Amino acid sequence: GTVLITGASGFLGSHIAARLIDQGYKIRATFRSESKSQLLRNVLGGKNIETCIVADITAPGAFMEAIVGADFVIHTASPFTFKVIDINKDLIQPAVEGTSRMLEAIASSSTVKRVVLTSSFAAVVDPTKGPRAGYTYTEEDWNPMTPEKALENNLFGYQASKTFAEKAAWDFTKSNAGNEKTPSLVTICPPMIFGPVHPASGITKDALNESSAQLLKAVTSADPAPTRMPVFVDVRDVAQAHVDALDVAKIPNSERFVVCAGKFTWSAIKEIYESGAASAESMSPADDYYSISPKKIEDMMGIKWISLQSSNLIEQQTRV
Ligand code: NDP
Repeated sequence: GTVLITGASGFLGSHIAARLIDQGYKIRATFRSESKSQLLRNVLGGKNIETCIVADITAPGAFMEAIVGADFVIHTASPFTFKVIDINKDLIQPAVEGTSRMLEAIASSSTVKRVVLTSSFAAVVDPTKGPRAGYTYTEEDWNPMTPEKALENNLFGYQASKTFAEKAAWDFTKSNAGNEKTPSLVTICPPMIFGPVHPASGITKDALNESSAQLLKAVTSADPAPTRMPVFVDVRDVAQAHVDALDVAKIPNSERFVVCAGKFTWSAIKEIYESGAASAESMSPADDYYSISPKKIEDMMGIKWISLQSSNLIEQQTRV
C-alpha cells in the first residue's frame, strides 16, 4: 500500500520513512523544502518513493492533492522546539491546523484505511501535578491544558500544541464513527526520544532536533541540568510502532498508545556516555518521579524496548 507521510525530514519521520521502504510500502512524503526532499530520495533510493512539496501545512486544502490514492497516513509533522516568539502562531497553529487540514483531506478520501498520528507524552502528562512520585501514566491520562494556560510559557505552549492536535483527531474520529469510510485512528505518545539521527533526515550537528540537542547539552556540560521529564524511548522503537500501527489485522480498532523504554536522568546519560555504564546513584533521582506503563502496546505489538545502555543510543546521536 501507499503511505502518505509528513515530517519525513525530521528526527522521527526519517526513521519511519526508511522502515516503511524496508518493509515494502510505497511512500508519498511531503516536505516544506526541495533540498530535504532531495536528500531523502538520495539516501533511501528512488524506488517506491514519491515526494511532494506542501509549503504550508495550515493552508486550506494543504493535503488535498497528496492524499489522492493513499491507503494509509502517518502524520508526524509538528514543531518541537521551545525557541518560539509567538506560542499560537509558532506552535499551536501548525500542530492543530496542520492536523485539521490532514483530517479534512482524509474525509475527502475513500481509500485511506488507517491514520497514525504522532502525539506526545506532552498530551498525557499533567504538568500541574509535578514529579508525582509513585504515579504511573497510561493511555487513560490527558494533559488538562487550557488555551489560557498554554500562553504562560513555551513548555506549556508545546504541550498544548500536542494535546489540542491529538484531541482534534479524536473528535474527528468520534464524530465520523457512523461513516464506514472513516479510517480508524492510532495515536502514539512518546516521551523524550533518543537514538541515532538518520542520514535521510535534514538534521545536522548545528541544527539538531530538540531532544537530540538536549541530550548533547547534557553529555557536554560539566554539571547536567535537573531532569524534568525523566522518561525516554529510542527513535527506532517509536518508528517501528508507527509502522506496526498500520497493520489493521493486528490493531483492528482506533487506539491510543503510550510508548516508553524506561526512566533516565541527564547525569546517568552523561555517565553512560563517558564510561559505558551508569551507577545506581546517578539513576536514583528518577525514582522521585512518575513512570509510564507501555503495557498496552507491548501486549498488542510485542515491542521490546532498546535500553539507555545501548551504546548506539547516545554515540550516534551526538556525532551527527
Ligand atoms: P524534528 O524537529 O526533527 O521534526 C519535525 C518535523 O516536522 C520536520 O519534518 C519538520 O519539517 C516538520 N515541521 C515542524 N514544524 C512544521 C511546520 N510549521 N510546518 C510544516 N512542517 C513542520 O522533530 P521530531 O522528529 O522529534 O518530531 C516529530 C514528531 O514527534 C512531532 O510531532 C513531535 O511533536 C513528536 N515528538 C517528538 C519527541 C522527541 O523527543 N523528539 C517526543 C514526543 C513527540 P522541516 O524539516 O521542514 O522543519
